[in-house]
Formats: sequence, C-alpha cells, structure tokens
Amino acid sequence: TVTLAIESSCDETAAAVLLDGREVLSNIISSQIDIHKLYGGVVPEIASRHHLTNVNTVVDQALDAAKVTMDEVDLIGVTYGPGLVGALLIGLATAKAYALAAEKPLVGVHHIQGHICANYIQHKDLKPPFMALVISGGHTNIVEVTDYNECHVLGGTRDDAAGEAYDKVARVLGLGYPGGPLIDKLAKEGNPHAVEFKRVFLEKGSLDFSFSGIKTGVLNYMNSERQAGREPNPADVAASFQAAVLDVIVAKTVGAAVDMNKDKIVLAGGVASNSRLREMLQTECKKHGIALYYPDPILCTDNAAMIGCAAYYKYKAGGISDLDLDAVPDLSL
Ligand code: ATP
Ligand code: MG
Ligand code: FE
Repeated sequence: TVTLAIESSCDETAAAVLLDGREVLSNIISSQIDIHKLYGGVVPEIASRHHLTNVNTVVDQALDAAKVTMDEVDLIGVTYGPGLVGALLIGLATAKAYALAAEKPLVGVHHIQGHICANYIQHKDLKPPFMALVISGGHTNIVEVTDYNECHVLGGTRDDAAGEAYDKVARVLGLGYPGGPLIDKLAKEGNPHAVEFKRVFLEKGSLDFSFSGIKTGVLNYMNSERQAGREPNPADVAASFQAAVLDVIVAKTVGAAVDMNKDKIVLAGGVASNSRLREMLQTECKKHGIALYYPDPILCTDNAAMIGCAAYYKYKAGGISDLDLDAVPDLSL
C-alpha cells in the first residue's frame, strides 16, 4: 500500500510517500522558520501564503524522491486539524484536488495522532498498547494508546503547552525562535538548582499541567535580579526553568504508566527531541522496568511521514473521508 501524505497545519509545508505505513520512501519538509523568526513566532497569514506557494512543489518532490507516480498511490492522507485554519486549508484543498483528479481515497488525519505515529516509523516493532506523552508547540497531553486508531486523553495543559513555555522563556532570555532547541543547548552549561522555580503539580492525582506561571516566574526573577544590580546567568536560568518543567512532566508521565500497568512510554511532538527530557525519562523508566521510545528529531517536529503512517492505519480500519472534509482548527483527540 502506497500512501501520499500532506501536512500544513503550522509553518512546515510537508509531503511524504510511505510503503505499508511504516517505510518512508520520501519525506520532504519545507520549513518557514527563517521567515517567522523575523516576527518571533508564526504569523498565520504569512504561513498560509507560503503553504500556497510551496505545496505543489513539495508534493512533486516527494513523489519524485520516492520514484512513485500518482497512479501508483493507493491513498492520500492529510492533516485536517488541529492547527491554523488558513494553513490547514491549503494542505486539505491540495489533497482533495489530487484525490479527485487521480480518483484516490482521501484520509483526513488528526495532527497529534500523526505525532504519535512517528514512533511506528522509527521503531518497526512497536505496537500498542502504551502510554504516550505528546509534547509539542501546541499540546502537552498524557495519552493512553490502546490501539492504532484508539486512544484516551488522560490529561493535558490547562493553559500553555510545554513547547510554548520553552519558546516564551527563550524570548524572555533573548535567545531567538524557536526557543526549545536553544534552551536545550544552553541549559547543558547551566546549574538546574540555581533558581528554584515552582513545580506546578495541580490537585493530587491530576494528570493535567499548567505552564503559564513559569514564564512569569522567569520574568519576575530576571527583573528582581536586575533591580538588585545583578545580571542573571542565562544558562542557569535556562537549566532551572527546564528542571522545573521536566520534573513535573516526568513524574506525571511515569506515574500514569505505572498506575495503568503500561510497560512502554512513547514520546511525540517537537519537545520530544529535548535531550534532558529523554535523559530524565530514561532514568525513571529504568527504575520501573518501562521501555522508552522516541523518534529521531526530524520525525519529532512537523512532517508528513507521520501523517502518512496515521492515514495508513486509519485507511486499514476503513476510515476514508468524504471530499467535503473541512479543516477543524481545534480538533480534539
Ligand atoms: P502542535 O503539534 O501541538 O500543533 P507544533 O506543530 O507547532 O504544535 P511541533 O512542530 O510538534 O509543534 O514542535 C515545535 C515545538 O517544539 C516548538 O515549541 C519548539 O520550541 C519545540 N522544540 C523543538 N526542539 C526542542 C528541544 N530540543 N527542546 C525543547 N523544545 C523543543
Ligand atoms: Mg513548526
Ligand atoms: Fe506538530
């Protein structure tokens, strides 16, 4: 089964071709980061325009690189939410046009389901059930994955996503955009115990998160230090911020896996590339005999290969979409 997949939910225009859902024949990503960098974040209208300019080229490149013709494609997978509505619409309209012209089935995919599926591409032997931590620019969820097309959200952020917190704190520290990878790198040179930022666990037993306070915490710390005539060490602040956020994430994720008897934890989303998160989880997982899985960085951030994998499993289960499928910016899992 050959899947052509398109992803355009945020600032990556991406297309991929997969064989039987898990073998990547091509994975083309046209990133707009250099454009949005100028504004310190993604500007939705600019993102849509660039998707429109690039999407056909990216699809052609994906087919060329895979040495596959439209005739040989069996299904077309596409992200239909969540994401920026204008951005989603470009990928969706493109996928529909190909589906209609080439008479191929269209399969609409949930972007976060795609992030989780990146692990099936990376780890050929991985099968559900497992506990997933979805940690990205827009999401922080602990998800019980019971089957390829079935999952239950056990908890999520009540305000900012973890990636958003990284990006905002990076801005406070004047590091640039996107902030996650920059904080990851800088924190390696800092002392995680330098500043004791508050660990927000919420009510006992809750698997929800709250990260909006920590940005203010970092800002207040910087201001009070400067008022006292001291210049804070950015590496110490980055390491301390990261420790505060990751302590909570790791405790809740491993706790959920232990409570629900899961012997596998799977990381998904852009922040899953974070080296300290991987280290801390690995240590905790070892203590409990849990196996930890995560994709290569290129499969952690937005790409179409992960969407193709999710589309394949949905298609196998009969999940073909109508051609009037609409973009759903706030689609829930
Ligand atoms: P969503 O998937 O929720 O719709 P998104 O697609 O914008 O959001 P992703 O592309 O999955 O998010 O991830 C981007 C986020 O990952 C950014 O916030 C970025 O700062 C963060 N990120 C990337 N690498 C790292 C890293 N090494 N450490 C921490 N954060 C990282
Ligand atoms: Mg992105
Ligand atoms: Fe994403």
